[in-house]
Amino acid sequence: MKRRVSILGATGSVGTSTLDLIERSPERFEVIALTAATDTRGLADAARRTGARLAVIADSSRLTELEAMLAGTDCRAAAGSDALMEAAAGEAEWVMAAIVGCAGLEPVMAALEAGRTVALANKEALVSAGALMTEAAARNGATILPVDSEHNAIFQCLAGSSREQVSKLILTASGGPFRTSTEPEIRAATPAQAVAHPNWSMGAKISVDSATLMNKGLELIEAHHLFGLPSERIEVLIHPQSVVHSLVEFIDGSVLAQLGSPDMRVPIAFALTWPERMATPAERLKLAQIGKLEFQEPDLQRFPALRMARQALEQGGAAPTVLNAANEVAVATFLAGRIGFTEVPELVEQALERQTSLAPSSIEEVIAIDLETRKAVGAMIEARCH
Ligand code: NDP
Repeated sequence: MKRRVSILGATGSVGTSTLDLIERSPERFEVIALTAATDTRGLADAARRTGARLAVIADSSRLTELEAMLAGTDCRAAAGSDALMEAAAGEAEWVMAAIVGCAGLEPVMAALEAGRTVALANKEALVSAGALMTEAAARNGATILPVDSEHNAIFQCLAGSSREQVSKLILTASGGPFRTSTEPEIRAATPAQAVAHPNWSMGAKISVDSATLMNKGLELIEAHHLFGLPSERIEVLIHPQSVVHSLVEFIDGSVLAQLGSPDMRVPIAFALTWPERMATPAERLKLAQIGKLEFQEPDLQRFPALRMARQALEQGGAAPTVLNAANEVAVATFLAGRIGFTEVPELVEQALERQTSLAPSSIEEVIAIDLETRKAVGAMIEARCH
């Protein structure tokens, strides 16, 4: 039996890596739906190659263009948020959630409410909605499989161990492109420098998050929700080689780690065929050539975003939703060249200081807090830019 799969965010970095694996094993997978925001060409090409039945473009003004590109195929073109929900909750039993940002939250929730297996790359959705998302999965018999390489590594190391047997989780971080930079160098960092990740090839937003270490902060919150451990039992270690993808320390003192070359196709493949494994073209690890694996404590002075994310996790309530929304706006504004690199964590801190919202009790409340924060951070940016 072929596994029926859909990919939300099919034209992005994670989406195209997922397509690469699926196209190498067409006998194992049937593609039901693919989605994108604006990239009609990438979406239509992927739909043609895979024989997808539904292609959804979030930007409704591009529907006619998409329809023209899919003329003569059996693939239906659709657009807008209802169509995105349809793609998420359709007939596929396995859904890759690879939209970037909180924009992916409602489609992820639609897939969970339909009881699907959700391969979760879209960490911002889980950071924003937290327990509401894991509760929806439990209530509907849905499964969340972590795709983020660190959480996928932990998932592999846990291999069914109960939470009582775990003493702590250790998330590794490459340290990003500014790991060895001085504070003045970091302050002067340009968008081009920030997206040039030393080990991983990724979309622009997560690349900037890796450079500020906010990515590791979001992952800390993600790990808390996925594995049910409190902040004090989740550590972060800088590991510049990105070979050890994360570790689990058990109560007997044993530490298990998952290693591999930095290629997202490995964790994606693990989620695609879980509980089995599939072959991938990822480069094999040559430890003798690498020679040395290093580990260091993170520097919270040069990279305050990690400290803020931990505080938001410990504070709870609406703080993680605010942290994420403020960061999304600040990163987009930095990428547009309107603010400096160190203004990204500054704006997040400012947004966290002014936030007073209670914990959201529904997805509608999460979205309202997200929108309100975006507006507030937009106003802070205008005030800075004038
Ligand atoms: P990209 O920017 O490369 O791709 C994002 C995808 O989402 C694209 O298909 C894009 O469509 C679509 N999209 C963007 N905005 C919207 C929107 N408002 N509505 C609907 N679709 C939208 O991102 P990545 O692939 O790098 O990352 C995706 C997610 O996975 C992020 O949450 C990231 O943190 C996470 N992740 C990524 C890793 C990586 O290696 N890249 C590793 C681990 C996690 P279009 O192309 O048309 O713009």
